[in-house]
Amino acid sequence: MTDCLFCKIVSGDVPAKVVRDSERVLAFRDINPQAPTHVLVIPKIHHPTAAELAAADPALLSEVLGEAHRVAVDEGIDGTGYRIVFNTGAQAGQTVFHVHAHVLGGRGLNWPPG
Ligand code: C5P
Repeated sequence: MTDCLFCKIVSGDVPAKVVRDSERVLAFRDINPQAPTHVLVIPKIHHPTAAELAAADPALLSEVLGEAHRVAVDEGIDGTGYRIVFNTGAQAGQTVFHVHAHVLGGRGLNWPPG
């Protein structure tokens, strides 16, 4: 999608600090990190939400989750624990409508989230 920020990151038109790059999935550091590790993991093709990706291509959603775990391993937070979050819809706080998994860790994380 031409007006999608994360599609522009995939194409290289918007810069990002990429940490993992596979055939169908990209992971890059969040520009406004909420934890010592805060990485976004996205499919390279555009799907607006996790729900729509799950319906359209569940194997790709599984790839996104696998890459999220590999990010945690690369960052050294898989032993202490980390959180994977898909904000889905405006009321849940989704602001960029290209599905993305937040991988958060490196500090204690509160529950329930705000
Ligand atoms: O779940 P939500 O849609 O709110 O998350 C969008 C995330 O994208 C935010 O955490 C924001 O900091 C991040 N972002 C980014 N790079 C941009 C614009 C937004 O990492 N250029």
